[in-house]
Amino acid sequence: MRTATAVDLDTPLVGPVGKKAADALASKLGLHTVGDLVRHYPRRYVDRGKLTEIGGLELGEHVTVLAQVEKVTLRDMRARRGKLMQVVITDGRGHRLDCTFFNPYKLQKVLVPGLRALFSGQVTRFRDKLQLTHPEFEPLEESEGIRPFVSIYPAAQGFDSWQIARCVRQVLDLLDDPTDPLPIGIRRAESLPNLGRALRRIHLPDTEADHFAARTRLVWDEALGVQLALALRRASAVQRPAAANPRVPGGLRDAFDARLPYTLTAGQVAVGEEIAADLASEHPMNRLVQGDVGAGKTVVALRAMLQVVDNGRQAALLAPTEVLAAQHARSLRTLLGPLAQAGELGGAEQATRVTLLSGSLTARAKRKALLEAQSGEAGIVVGTHALIQERVGFAELGLVVVDEQHRFGVEQRDALRGRGERAPHLLVMTATPIPRTVAMTVYGDLEVSALRELPGGRFPIKTTVVPAGEKPAWLERVWQRIREEVAAGHQVYVVCPRVGGDTGKDDEFPDDPDEVGAGSEERRAPLAVLDTAPKLAEGPLAGLRLGVLHGRLPPDEKDAVMRAFDAGEIDVLVATTVVEVGVDVPNATAMVVLDADRFGLSQLHQLRGRVGRGSAAGVCLLVTDAPAGTTARERLDAVAGTTDGFELARIDLELRREGDVLGALQSGRRSGLKLLSLLRHEKIIAKAREYAAALVEDDPGLARHPGLRALADAVVAEDRAEYLEKA
Ligand code: ADP
Ligand code: MG
Repeated sequence: MRTATAVDLDTPLVGPVGKKAADALASKLGLHTVGDLVRHYPRRYVDRGKLTEIGGLELGEHVTVLAQVEKVTLRDMRARRGKLMQVVITDGRGHRLDCTFFNPYKLQKVLVPGLRALFSGQVTRFRDKLQLTHPEFEPLEESEGIRPFVSIYPAAQGFDSWQIARCVRQVLDLLDDPTDPLPIGIRRAESLPNLGRALRRIHLPDTEADHFAARTRLVWDEALGVQLALALRRASAVQRPAAANPRVPGGLRDAFDARLPYTLTAGQVAVGEEIAADLASEHPMNRLVQGDVGAGKTVVALRAMLQVVDNGRQAALLAPTEVLAAQHARSLRTLLGPLAQAGELGGAEQATRVTLLSGSLTARAKRKALLEAQSGEAGIVVGTHALIQERVGFAELGLVVVDEQHRFGVEQRDALRGRGERAPHLLVMTATPIPRTVAMTVYGDLEVSALRELPGGRFPIKTTVVPAGEKPAWLERVWQRIREEVAAGHQVYVVCPRVGGDTGKDDEFPDDPDEVGAGSEERRAPLAVLDTAPKLAEGPLAGLRLGVLHGRLPPDEKDAVMRAFDAGEIDVLVATTVVEVGVDVPNATAMVVLDADRFGLSQLHQLRGRVGRGSAAGVCLLVTDAPAGTTARERLDAVAGTTDGFELARIDLELRREGDVLGALQSGRRSGLKLLSLLRHEKIIAKAREYAAALVEDDPGLARHPGLRALADAVVAEDRAEYLEKA
């Protein structure tokens, strides 16, 4: 029975908290219902007895700290009328912060030395000292009565943590215990509190254990939501019909195997068998092949494509860039030789065609390519995602291979599988090492195979950090080393974070602020290709043949530069990260990455994979100004310290964890995934995956578990995208 005042999670906030607060919660934090607010979890708890450490605050942060007033001075303002009050607050551990109040009126009576209060505001700088300008504050006695912990919420300018806390308490007082979506069996087995209790305890914990249990329970909801969503997706994907492509003895695939110049690695053989079996099934394959740079994924993909062509169907190979698509088309044609020369002189009898669809084709060539795809003449069509998705009609598309696309999310894969009667088989290839938890979430709708060994005869890449800031002489040595490489007949990449020219926007500048260290104000702009190339040409690399490659070049120019580099007509290629993925020039043996600290860890790993692909040892020099002891340097040292991509991916996750400073980057995320961490919750994610698989197998569509269905649906697309970026 409901009483008149009872509220549930769907109740609009205006009833329980009043119009003014409800408006603020909606406009500043995007919280509209009781459910939104109770899922706006505290970011941290302050022990009522302890002051907040304020030594580590950073400029520009919006923070909430528990501190004590040490000293108050009041004086007239110099330039205009009115008073200025300077309040020094302390954490009792030797760190102080100045708070400035203009025209403090009655504040003098409240802000007296000895007062403990929560202070909230933006960290600014004045004359080399950090301060809070006109912060909001709330004396401690007034907050949350006598509870042992003060909950600190992600707040917004103009609506502070304690105001949110007040609203939460009002709502919790009125809230009926919600129906718990978690089956009692799971709750018992995992010793989890029920939902109502967890929601109360995460806001108002009495003990650390309380808070921990509550949080764990809510993490479970998120983990299970993700895994159920993925399990539902897998279930509906594998139930769809697809064309079966059994192996055809004596077909193209066999002919190709017979002309391979090397033996396949054990991994290539094993993964090849898995794929062959998938392709022969009447339900679509959804498989991810993960293999470090140079592991030999192309051959694996090609053999899969040939199996499909042997069954009279077509395969599409999607690359992330035009450069890469062009290179793929070239290397597939080389690998296939006469097998790709259908209708040409010297073509093999069962030969097919490899057709490149590129933005830089002339209108006429493009028409021809489209026609080849449409007629089925082209067994293999290579192009970028955009091109192929938009405009190509196939005679019968049997397989889509997606190469090297880090940010190719669940939704894009769905779109690719299309809405047609029979879905094409899907093979995704990536060199980005994927930690277990990421494989289980971001790629959770795919089966995963791994190529763990590199083909024999490779030399490992030696990576060295060059601290140009501390040791300028080392940089000279770098260029000398490059001249030696070139003198020995090898080629070199020099990679910069930016295109430069500073007219347009920096399209290739890493867009993740975590990766580029945005926010620190005085950093110089990252080095640019267009500035660096001429300097090198006139300076340390004078006399060498330099080429320039970046994303702003027209596609045909890009392609021409890559060809020239491929052909050995360019000694040193100064480039942006367009060389990051897939580019394969075996004679390139050295890479210099300038401003290396501006790149992500996995990105650096990808980049250095471009060298040492032939039989000469590769060297990668990471040049940085970042001082020793900084996280930036730590990350570079990690790259230099291991060639194991999986290990690097793990370190990357770890180092990218946001700092533990109170209130850092406070922002209200809307819904869905708030607590789940790929790093910390591996065990829960793995278990949730098992439960989800069992639940969906037992109740496909989750019709009998509406609560669970809602959990799955709550993991909205937007959140997943964000999750993917974080990963
Ligand atoms: P990636 O996995 O990075 O896409 P590629 O498919 O481009 O790697 O292969 C890298 C290089 O290794 C290519 O030059 C390719 O010809 C060569 N390669 C692939 N498989 C083998 C093998 N089994 N033995 C020797 N070389 C191989
Ligand atoms: Mg590749």
